[in-house]
Amino acid sequence: MIAEITAAYEAGKTAYTLAKAISDVSHDVRVNEKVIELQQLILTLQNGVFVAQREIDSLAKAKADSDEQFKAYERWDEEAAGYKLIQLPPGVNVFALRRVEGDTTPPHWLCPKCFMDRKKAFLQKEHRDLSTYHCQNCKLELDPEHHCTPQYV
Ligand SMILES: [Zn+2]
Repeated sequence: MIAEITAAYEAGKTAYTLAKAISDVSHDVRVNEKVIELQQLILTLQNGVFVAQREIDSLAKAKADSDEQFKAYERWDEEAAGYKLIQLPPGVNVFALRRVEGDTTPPHWLCPKCFMDRKKAFLQKEHRDLSTYHCQNCKLELDPEHHCTPQYV
């Protein structure tokens, strides 16, 4: 809770208590009626403070979510820079891993459809003897020529 919101709420609580104390010592009906009005206004004020705090919390969460999405976007850009779009015969597009000195990640292909959706999805052969590659995410099937295997670019 923000300190100013807490202070406003506590001030309202104190004002409510003071109004009750005035009502307890006063025997004047008009004063007591005004004290009740004052207490109702104080309760309305406290409710407004609570609503404002909830809105502040909601906005803080939305900002944190937005910051995280932005970081994920930046992370994807770094990840994507490690791949290059290539075309395999007979015209099958895939993203292939770039060679990086010292990196032991085996060469592989990524699904072009998922890549454009900013997702890293491997293309895998389901049967050793077939040339069809399947995306593990979107189930896209690609059929490069039989001799094509993932290589670094
Ligand atoms: Zn895919």
